[in-house]
Amino acid sequence: MSQVVLRNLAVGYGGHPVLNNVNIQLMKGRFTCILGPNGSGKTTLLKTLAHLLPALGGVVEIDGRDLTQFTSAQLAREMSVVLTERVQLENTTCFEVAAMGRAPHTGFFGVLTNEDKKFVLDCLEKCSALYLKDKLFHQISEGEKQKVLIARGLAQDPHVFILDEPTSHLDIKYKLEVLSTLKKLCTQEGKTVVCTLHEPELAAKCSDYLILVRDGEIPRWGPTQELVEGGEISQLYGLKPNQLDLHIGSVEFCASCQKDFFLIGSDARSVSLMRTLANQGVGVGAGVLHENDFLCRMVRSMGGQVVTVPSYTPIDCAKQQEALDLALEYRCIALADFPDCEITRGNLELAQKLRQLGREVFPADLSRVETALAKDGK
Ligand code: ADP
Repeated sequence: MSQVVLRNLAVGYGGHPVLNNVNIQLMKGRFTCILGPNGSGKTTLLKTLAHLLPALGGVVEIDGRDLTQFTSAQLAREMSVVLTERVQLENTTCFEVAAMGRAPHTGFFGVLTNEDKKFVLDCLEKCSALYLKDKLFHQISEGEKQKVLIARGLAQDPHVFILDEPTSHLDIKYKLEVLSTLKKLCTQEGKTVVCTLHEPELAAKCSDYLILVRDGEIPRWGPTQELVEGGEISQLYGLKPNQLDLHIGSVEFCASCQKDFFLIGSDARSVSLMRTLANQGVGVGAGVLHENDFLCRMVRSMGGQVVTVPSYTPIDCAKQQEALDLALEYRCIALADFPDCEITRGNLELAQKLRQLGREVFPADLSRVETALAKDGK
């Protein structure tokens, strides 16, 4: 069920649209992330959605009611907004800052009941910021301020929670904590959360819906799984097609496109071996790998070629031949240290055939491979 509907919305500044013809819905009780390159219009869209910026055209509706018909007091109970703009608050404790969020619920004099105080403390705790409650807001770090401001937004107890880059300034532990708090707000309390994120790999893991923003439009929006499988997010940021692999939440530096090093099979050290070589500017390829092998996706993310067979199946003659033809194009070939069993045997045979053709096949050991590559002029 959609709680917020954006209908033919145009957003921008001074009559100049940044995004046009936006038609999307934010589902009740779901977590939606907005992704897009810098300057694409994510914040402008959020501000318009939060009624902080007038729409240039179209409407935003909450539960079927036009946003412009809400009084500011009604709107404050409906939605809370946490932006990235710096908040200047001198001589105010973090508890007092978070407690400001209770304003729509505390009546004219803003007096907090014991329940309100407990609610505010709970919000600080949910944001891992309880330890800050007695500290002065202007004397804490940017990351800590971020957590307190999110707690303030939570204290407002809105139906719709809008956040611009809630994970900026936070280290990885707190990023995960804040995102899992937001996710719980959706799953356990039925809140509708929408935020911009700069980490597509985290967005793919925590969101239910994604909205992609680029070049003045929304090229796609929909359930996260569909968009992740579509592989469009790599292109959204102008990366190579597989470079950002959101199935495994990984992004790789692109290796050289030269055919320098081919790895037969894989073992526990293969990931670090390939990353080290790729970082040295070595072009990599691999085969035959099983489709469920992490290395498959990683080498593709690096822009390398990979020969694969389905997971847990033996390597058939055709795939062995394909890998042999590919391996012959590379300057240096190595054999990973995997056990001999039915599904890997084809790779041992592949190494044997390459040796019979006069090619040296090294053990997949970094120093051996580096020496071989150096000897060969790299
Ligand atoms: P994002 O959040 O995706 O980085 P923004 O929504 O902040 O992008 O900006 C989208 C475009 O709007 C950019 O070209 C930016 O320069 C422009 N812009 C942002 N704020 C203003 C403003 N206050 N007045 C005019 N243009 C702005």
